[in-house]
Amino acid sequence: MRDENCIFCKIASGEIPSTTLYEDGDFRVIFDLAPASPGHLLILPKEHFADLLELDEAVAAKLLPLSARVARAMKEALSCPGFHLVQNNGEAAGQTVRHFHMHIIPRYGKEELLLWKPGECTEEERAELCRRIGEKLQ
Ligand code: AMP
Ligand code: ZN
Repeated sequence: MRDENCIFCKIASGEIPSTTLYEDGDFRVIFDLAPASPGHLLILPKEHFADLLELDEAVAAKLLPLSARVARAMKEALSCPGFHLVQNNGEAAGQTVRHFHMHIIPRYGKEELLLWKPGECTEEERAELCRRIGEKLQ
Protein backbone atom coordinates (compact mmCIF):
# COMPACT_ATOMS: atom_id res chain seq x y z
CA MET A 1 0.00 0.00 0.00
CA ARG A 2 1.15 3.48 -0.84
CA ASP A 3 0.05 7.00 0.04
CA GLU A 4 0.23 9.34 -2.96
CA ASN A 5 0.90 12.35 -0.74
CA CYS A 6 3.68 10.71 1.30
CA ILE A 7 7.26 11.78 0.63
CA PHE A 8 8.73 8.64 2.24
CA CYS A 9 6.57 6.44 -0.03
CA LYS A 10 8.11 8.28 -2.97
CA ILE A 11 11.64 7.92 -1.58
CA ALA A 12 11.14 4.26 -0.62
CA SER A 13 9.87 3.40 -4.11
CA GLY A 14 12.75 5.27 -5.79
CA GLU A 15 10.44 7.83 -7.41
CA ILE A 16 12.35 10.52 -5.50
CA PRO A 17 16.09 9.79 -5.60
CA SER A 18 17.98 9.35 -2.33
CA THR A 19 21.42 8.29 -1.15
CA THR A 20 20.51 4.67 -0.54
CA LEU A 21 22.76 2.59 1.69
CA TYR A 22 20.71 -0.60 1.38
CA GLU A 23 17.55 -1.84 -0.29
CA ASP A 24 15.58 -5.08 -0.34
CA GLY A 25 11.98 -6.04 -1.08
CA ASP A 26 10.71 -4.60 2.20
CA PHE A 27 12.96 -1.67 3.10
CA ARG A 28 15.13 1.17 1.85
CA VAL A 29 17.82 2.60 4.14
CA ILE A 30 18.67 6.25 3.45
CA PHE A 31 20.63 9.09 4.99
CA ASP A 32 18.66 11.67 6.99
CA LEU A 33 18.91 15.05 5.24
CA ALA A 34 19.21 16.88 8.58
CA PRO A 35 21.45 14.47 10.49
CA ALA A 36 21.69 14.56 14.27
CA SER A 37 25.28 13.33 13.78
CA PRO A 38 27.34 12.23 10.77
CA GLY A 39 25.93 8.95 9.45
CA HIS A 40 22.34 9.37 10.76
CA LEU A 41 20.25 6.80 8.85
CA LEU A 42 16.56 6.12 8.34
CA ILE A 43 15.08 2.69 7.68
CA LEU A 44 11.92 3.08 5.60
CA PRO A 45 9.50 0.23 4.93
CA LYS A 46 8.48 0.29 1.26
CA GLU A 47 4.84 -0.05 2.22
CA HIS A 48 3.07 2.88 3.83
CA PHE A 49 2.41 2.50 7.56
CA ALA A 50 1.84 5.75 9.45
CA ASP A 51 3.47 4.53 12.65
CA LEU A 52 4.30 1.52 14.82
CA LEU A 53 0.64 0.81 15.54
CA GLU A 54 -0.02 0.31 11.82
CA LEU A 55 3.17 -1.60 11.04
CA ASP A 56 2.61 -5.05 9.56
CA GLU A 57 3.90 -7.77 11.92
CA ALA A 58 5.89 -9.59 9.23
CA VAL A 59 7.65 -6.33 8.32
CA ALA A 60 8.16 -5.53 12.00
CA ALA A 61 9.82 -8.92 12.55
CA LYS A 62 12.46 -8.07 9.94
CA LEU A 63 13.09 -4.58 11.22
CA LEU A 64 15.20 -5.27 14.30
CA PRO A 65 17.54 -7.75 12.60
CA LEU A 66 18.06 -5.22 9.78
CA SER A 67 18.62 -2.42 12.30
CA ALA A 68 21.34 -4.48 14.00
CA ARG A 69 22.94 -5.39 10.67
CA VAL A 70 23.07 -1.77 9.52
CA ALA A 71 24.21 -0.51 12.95
CA ARG A 72 27.02 -3.08 13.05
CA ALA A 73 28.34 -1.86 9.68
CA MET A 74 27.92 1.76 10.75
CA LYS A 75 29.83 1.23 14.01
CA GLU A 76 32.67 -0.46 12.22
CA ALA A 77 32.88 2.02 9.36
CA LEU A 78 32.46 5.22 11.39
CA SER A 79 34.11 4.10 14.64
CA CYS A 80 31.21 5.37 16.71
CA PRO A 81 31.20 3.68 20.12
CA GLY A 82 27.41 3.93 20.47
CA PHE A 83 24.20 4.60 18.60
CA HIS A 84 20.50 5.21 19.13
CA LEU A 85 17.56 3.43 17.59
CA VAL A 86 14.81 6.05 17.75
CA GLN A 87 11.32 5.73 16.42
CA ASN A 88 8.78 8.53 16.94
CA ASN A 89 5.03 7.90 16.95
CA GLY A 90 2.64 10.83 16.66
CA GLU A 91 3.16 14.57 16.57
CA ALA A 92 3.27 14.71 20.37
CA ALA A 93 6.35 12.47 20.26
CA GLY A 94 8.04 14.53 17.55
CA GLN A 95 7.03 12.50 14.50
CA THR A 96 7.13 14.88 11.53
CA VAL A 97 6.75 12.36 8.68
CA ARG A 98 3.73 10.05 9.05
CA HIS A 99 5.39 7.10 7.33
CA PHE A 100 6.95 4.70 9.83
CA HIS A 101 10.72 5.06 10.01
CA MET A 102 13.47 3.90 12.33
CA HIS A 103 16.29 6.34 13.01
CA ILE A 104 19.79 4.94 13.52
CA ILE A 105 21.87 7.73 15.03
CA PRO A 106 25.59 7.22 15.60
CA ARG A 107 27.01 8.62 18.82
CA TYR A 108 30.65 9.53 19.03
CA GLY A 109 30.82 10.12 22.78
CA LYS A 110 31.09 13.90 22.72
CA GLU A 111 27.51 14.98 21.99
CA GLU A 112 25.12 16.38 24.53
CA LEU A 113 22.33 13.82 24.93
CA LEU A 114 18.92 15.40 25.38
CA LEU A 115 16.54 12.46 25.12
CA TRP A 116 14.56 13.13 28.30
CA LYS A 117 14.98 14.62 31.73
CA PRO A 118 14.57 12.00 34.51
CA GLY A 119 11.43 12.76 36.55
CA GLU A 120 9.81 11.41 39.72
CA CYS A 121 7.00 8.97 40.46
CA THR A 122 5.67 7.48 43.73
CA GLU A 123 5.03 3.77 44.17
CA GLU A 124 1.27 4.51 44.37
CA GLU A 125 1.34 6.45 41.09
CA ARG A 126 3.24 3.59 39.44
CA ALA A 127 0.71 1.06 40.73
CA GLU A 128 -2.22 3.14 39.43
CA LEU A 129 -0.59 3.57 35.99
CA CYS A 130 0.16 -0.15 35.90
CA ARG A 131 -3.48 -0.94 36.68
CA ARG A 132 -4.85 1.42 33.99
CA ILE A 133 -2.53 0.29 31.20
CA GLY A 134 -2.75 -3.37 32.24
CA GLU A 135 -6.55 -3.25 31.84
CA LYS A 136 -6.11 -2.33 28.17
CA LEU A 137 -3.32 -4.78 27.37
CA GLN A 138 -4.51 -7.55 25.04
P1 AMP B 1 10.61 12.14 12.63
O1 AMP B 1 10.73 13.44 13.39
O2 AMP B 1 10.87 10.95 13.45
O3 AMP B 1 9.31 12.07 11.86
O4 AMP B 1 11.79 12.18 11.59
C1 AMP B 1 11.71 12.62 10.29
C2 AMP B 1 13.12 12.70 9.81
O5 AMP B 1 13.11 12.69 8.41
C3 AMP B 1 13.84 13.98 10.24
O6 AMP B 1 15.03 13.60 10.93
C4 AMP B 1 14.15 14.68 8.92
O7 AMP B 1 15.39 15.31 8.93
C5 AMP B 1 14.10 13.54 7.93
N1 AMP B 1 13.71 13.88 6.58
C6 AMP B 1 12.64 14.62 6.19
N2 AMP B 1 12.57 14.67 4.84
C7 AMP B 1 13.59 13.92 4.37
C8 AMP B 1 14.06 13.58 3.07
N3 AMP B 1 13.45 14.02 1.97
N4 AMP B 1 15.15 12.79 2.96
C9 AMP B 1 15.79 12.34 4.08
N5 AMP B 1 15.41 12.63 5.32
C10 AMP B 1 14.34 13.43 5.48
ZN1 ZN C 1 4.32 6.63 2.99
